[in-house]
Amino acid sequence: MAIIMNGLELRNKKLALLKEKVTRLNPPIGLVVISVGNDSSSKVYVNNKALVAKDLGYTFIHESLKEDIEEEELISIINNYNKSDLIDGIIVQMPMPKHLNVERIQNAIDPYKDVDGLTYVNQGKLLEGVEALTPCTPKGIIDLLDEYKIELEGAKVTVIGRSILVGKPLSIMLTNRNASVSLLHSKTKNIKEYTKNSDIIVVAVGQKHFLTADMVKDGCIIVDVGITRIDNKIYGDVDFAQVNEKASHITPVPKGVGPMTVYELMENTYKARILRRG
Ligand code: NAP
Repeated sequence: MAIIMNGLELRNKKLALLKEKVTRLNPPIGLVVISVGNDSSSKVYVNNKALVAKDLGYTFIHESLKEDIEEEELISIINNYNKSDLIDGIIVQMPMPKHLNVERIQNAIDPYKDVDGLTYVNQGKLLEGVEALTPCTPKGIIDLLDEYKIELEGAKVTVIGRSILVGKPLSIMLTNRNASVSLLHSKTKNIKEYTKNSDIIVVAVGQKHFLTADMVKDGCIIVDVGITRIDNKIYGDVDFAQVNEKASHITPVPKGVGPMTVYELMENTYKARILRRG
């Protein structure tokens, strides 16, 4: 049986430490989440962020905009928050309606307030090994691996899934920590050949039980990023019951990577405040 890497426990421990640092700040830290339209899962994610931010004493604004908003109007709203001294962090909640150019909108955010780490400026800094404001999910994965003292230097790591939010930035963060990384995707041939030879496997595909026990070696370390909802139940990308028997460490779903992502957003917002105001 593997050691469970408990993201919920680590999040609570880290939130308590962060709370000590932020409570005396005046004005309080300000975070705005901009959403467009009525996506139901977005509402759940925004509510989760609101609860944690408010508990930390952050000023939390949810700017909920109508589905048919024009791109220019949305960018001018972002610009107002860029100029506001009371706002330290801005995120644009995905998904956006199809008529909006996500890249342009994302890059309208002041890089010093870009707490999702998705502007070209912050992506470029990450490539250079200057980790200023970096995407929250990969940052949470690195913190979780560090907490459980998983050696990254020299480790053979396979990351499955190359999204701009998770797989790509994680592969750079791991490379910056001297791991040897294979980044896999839907066109990769013979995935098992990679996973069988890996010390650490991170799966961010979004398919229930994608990674099975026959694909991993004994003693490997498994990080499951996937979230698939079926009949109100949440599943990860890993066949937990089977892989758990072979792995040395594994993250559960839920209570693994998910809670860490929310924590990292709060930490990034604190970091953004310090970077901008000192
Ligand atoms: P995404 O944009 O949904 O893309 C999925 C990735 O998986 C793509 O790179 C795709 O390859 C790859 N893929 C699809 N089928 C594959 C296959 N058969 N073999 C190998 N690779 C395959 O990715 P995402 O946004 O990173 O999300 C992935 C999962 O993580 C989702 O379930 C999402 O809900 C979850 N997630 C969780 C958190 C959290 O906080 N826990 C945060 C973010 C995402 P191509 O690039 O070739 O299409």
